[in-house]
Amino acid sequence: MSPRILLVDDNEDFLDNIKDVFEDEGYEVLTATSGEGAVQLVKDRPVDVVVMDIKMPGMNGVEAFIEMKKFKPGVKVIMCTAYIVEATIRRALSEGAQAVLNKPFEMEVLFRTVETVLEGGPPCNVLVADRDEEFCNRLGQCLRAHGYQAVTAVYGPEAVTKAGEASFDVLVLDKGLPLLDGLEVYDRIKKMQPNLVAAIITGNAHEMDSRTLRDLRRKPGVVTMKKPFDETELIHLLQDLCFTERQG
Ligand SMILES: [Mg+2]
Repeated sequence: MSPRILLVDDNEDFLDNIKDVFEDEGYEVLTATSGEGAVQLVKDRPVDVVVMDIKMPGMNGVEAFIEMKKFKPGVKVIMCTAYIVEATIRRALSEGAQAVLNKPFEMEVLFRTVETVLEGGPPCNVLVADRDEEFCNRLGQCLRAHGYQAVTAVYGPEAVTKAGEASFDVLVLDKGLPLLDGLEVYDRIKKMQPNLVAAIITGNAHEMDSRTLRDLRRKPGVVTMKKPFDETELIHLLQDLCFTERQG
């Protein structure tokens, strides 16, 4: 049976274009040009995945998603936005959106994201290695609340051991780990798990500009972040990383 997708955007030209593309790929496509219309469709008919613009007149995408969840709690929504309004993106993700795509995006990216969501999407397996145990626990809880699986480690050697015991999609790594430096931990884990992507974090603003971190940032599958950061910001980043990683 072909998957049923609901496309929601107030830009009708855009909607028509992507509708054609999805139909060519064998999807059954429903469309709505407003949040209100989308909510009504989800109420009336089963839908496998919703791709929804955030900024629309009247009810915006996030509000529509919240309404949909009231009667379809498991509804899977990919949000799209041309505006980087962090607060809105954060809200979308904390409400449980599967992903937020920034417009303009390649159709290919949208396709793969939709397919990944239909296949069950992230959760990814995340290894969190940070010397701050409280931070580890908090982040671990936050990740699990978003459907990720998370394992934590506070010492360098412990992180390497855990990476030897299970396979991970993402490594969230404190650069300054005790007993074994974060970068050494990164190298050792990467040897065992070459496909793993990494978010390397530091609490030191100067370090962000250091040669080591700049070199690391240039590698594919590595991002760097400075503490303190919002947990939703990290979740957003992880979603990108997990989708990219799954798409090879
Ligand atoms: Mg719009």
